[in-house]
Amino acid sequence: MKAVSSIIDTGALVRNLRRIREMTPHSKLLAVVKANAYGHGLYPVAAALNDDADAFAVSRIEEALSLRNQGISKPVVLLEGFFNSSDVELVSRYDLYTAVHDLTQARAIADAKLKKPVHCWVQVDIGMHRLGSCDLKEIAQIKKILEDSPNTYKPLGLISHLSVADTPSEQAYNEIQQDNFFRIAEELDFKGDLSLGNSAGICKWERSHTTWVRPGIIMYGISPFDDKTGVDLGLEPVMTLKASLIAVHHIKKGDKVGYGAAYVAPHDTVLGVISAGYGDGYPRTAPNGTPVYINGRRVPTAGHVCMDMMFVDLGPDSQDKIGDSAVLWGKELPVEVVASCCGTIPYELVCRIMPRVNTEYESN
Ligand SMILES: *Cc1c(COP(=O)(O)O)cnc(C)c1O
Repeated sequence: MKAVSSIIDTGALVRNLRRIREMTPHSKLLAVVKANAYGHGLYPVAAALNDDADAFAVSRIEEALSLRNQGISKPVVLLEGFFNSSDVELVSRYDLYTAVHDLTQARAIADAKLKKPVHCWVQVDIGMHRLGSCDLKEIAQIKKILEDSPNTYKPLGLISHLSVADTPSEQAYNEIQQDNFFRIAEELDFKGDLSLGNSAGICKWERSHTTWVRPGIIMYGISPFDDKTGVDLGLEPVMTLKASLIAVHHIKKGDKVGYGAAYVAPHDTVLGVISAGYGDGYPRTAPNGTPVYINGRRVPTAGHVCMDMMFVDLGPDSQDKIGDSAVLWGKELPVEVVASCCGTIPYELVCRIMPRVNTEYESN
């Protein structure tokens, strides 16, 4: 028995991608595997999806090279471009696709000495103000530098990102962002591939189903929306984070549990100690009462999460034993529910899985 295991269901992963294919029948699928595939394991996830995805997206050149070096030959896209002009040579040598968000990146590509051209997607700002320009003149300048250079494949692509596709109070602003995207594509005459929709766009905004869509969180069976789970969207959770009960104590009403005595037993009860903590990536911000799934029911956490362990109140009638399994999130307990208790989003919880957690792959 391992203290903490993250069980990754590659069958569910593939079924989720096929479901996304049905939701966006006219788009190609750029499977987003940045940040260690949202904590699910970069290479194993890419390998499992290799037959179903049309391309992979990452945010760092190291992630792209790691995929290439392990034999992934599908297109790999750098969503933020490259950060050093000396990396352009690697982009070309490893046949990567790169976003180009400013004049510096465009000039670095034009100035490089390359044996092969690079695939470029001009990245524009349609309302998020993160990467790219929203100024038509500047975008036209970037486009011209890239089009005039022998170092790029033509036609150039166009990419942007929706910032409020999942935000109910900002639906009008989301429409404006989509208008901006298609206006830029038309006015500057982009003839290459367009890429707009992320998970929330795929689920909710049909106009964002462009040549390429970029599913991230929904591939992992997790909802981008606060008020829904992945299961509500017809998806299956891919990650199950499991630990075990390693101690069981009978405690009295008023007993003080853990660091800072952050839980005071409200009744005589049975306290369980679980073999996972924030050193594994379980959030220390989890308040008393965050659910853990043990022996067919949800029990509340009790006291501060420690580095290697955490407590649950198993209740006075507990029959639970040392060695019983405790699911921290997964098929039996949506990670969306845990994230919402902790005041964060499920993206952060799955990304934070630490390297010491034992990751196992199975296909169910
Ligand atoms: C991370 C990312 C995505 C995927 O977002 P999800 O909400 O997980 O679908 C898509 N596009 C860009 C540019 C990203 O950075």
